[in-house]
Amino acid sequence: MSEGPLVESVEASAYTIPTDLPEADGTFAWNHTTIVVVQVRGGGQVGTGWTYGSPACAAVVRQDLGPVVIRRDALAVPAAWSAMVRQLRNIGRPGVAGMALSAVDVALWDLAARILGLPLHRLLGTQQDAVPIYGSGGFTTYTDRQLAEQLTGWVDRGIPRVKIKIAESSGTRVTRDLSRVARARSVVGAAVELFVDANGGYTPGQAVRIAERLSEHDVVWFEEPVSSDDLGGLRHVRSRCRADVTAGEYGFDLAYFQRMCAARAVDCLQVDVTRCGGITELLRVASVAEAHGLQISGHCAPHAHLAALMAIPNLRHLEWFHDHVRIERQLFAGCPQPLDGVLRPEPDRPGHGLTLRASALPQHRVA
Ligand SMILES: [Mg+2]
Repeated sequence: MSEGPLVESVEASAYTIPTDLPEADGTFAWNHTTIVVVQVRGGGQVGTGWTYGSPACAAVVRQDLGPVVIRRDALAVPAAWSAMVRQLRNIGRPGVAGMALSAVDVALWDLAARILGLPLHRLLGTQQDAVPIYGSGGFTTYTDRQLAEQLTGWVDRGIPRVKIKIAESSGTRVTRDLSRVARARSVVGAAVELFVDANGGYTPGQAVRIAERLSEHDVVWFEEPVSSDDLGGLRHVRSRCRADVTAGEYGFDLAYFQRMCAARAVDCLQVDVTRCGGITELLRVASVAEAHGLQISGHCAPHAHLAALMAIPNLRHLEWFHDHVRIERQLFAGCPQPLDGVLRPEPDRPGHGLTLRASALPQHRVA
């Protein structure tokens, strides 16, 4: 049995926050976002994790995951993680359960680091001094002026990479896609890296034809040109395209990422710490990617990724996603400010450094 502090409680809450403007990508539209927050207590400390998913994630945390984590050694996070994964066998790990698992895992790592009085990246083993970020938003619902204002805001703050959404209406508005890319390039100038994300909205042949047009605007990142379930399609586009083809945001377990790497489907592997199984699994995904000669880019939820990405060698960058930056700054105290295109935690803060605000938007609470 453990001699160290134990996990004493696991709590979950969910908040639905309206967007500041209507948002859409190639295959989805939304005007609000739900964040599910997990708080774990032990050793006189509180650890915090979160995911962006259904309020049902909170029920999985309370009913299925909390009971197998409570009274465990608070410093043995991988053991708690394995117990949670076993608990999910008959529920099914991908989807709601995987998001719940991820949020608890991040909270447990934060708790362990706080108990030890260490910044979380130091507990994990620091590899990076800071994490490069790219500005991400550029929703298809934006007017030209809104798009220009957002892009200019990032570039003016020293962020040298930006990403916009394309494949509007499932790839049926290609003329507008290309004019928005041209506009984005003219707004940011030649020195800023320009990325696009089609969210799986094109067919493989269509994506190859569009990639030729994107290269005229020096687009260097073509995310999910086709569905990330179509590994052959991704590989087809990748072999005929100058930009890096990327995917991975819907990966819920290690085997998913192994298949994507083995299929040679991407030039850079994206991983989301709030979906993939938390920090424990993200570190293993990074190793699989490394073995295939691939770098990792963190998907969304920037403050949940920061410490974990500082602990991997094959880091490319982290997505500074407009919607999640807004929400994380509203809900959490202690969010660091990006500087010169990189994010680094506030020095010497234990854990990931963020704490849920006591007054955290009770009017938005949904679970
Ligand atoms: Mg994406």
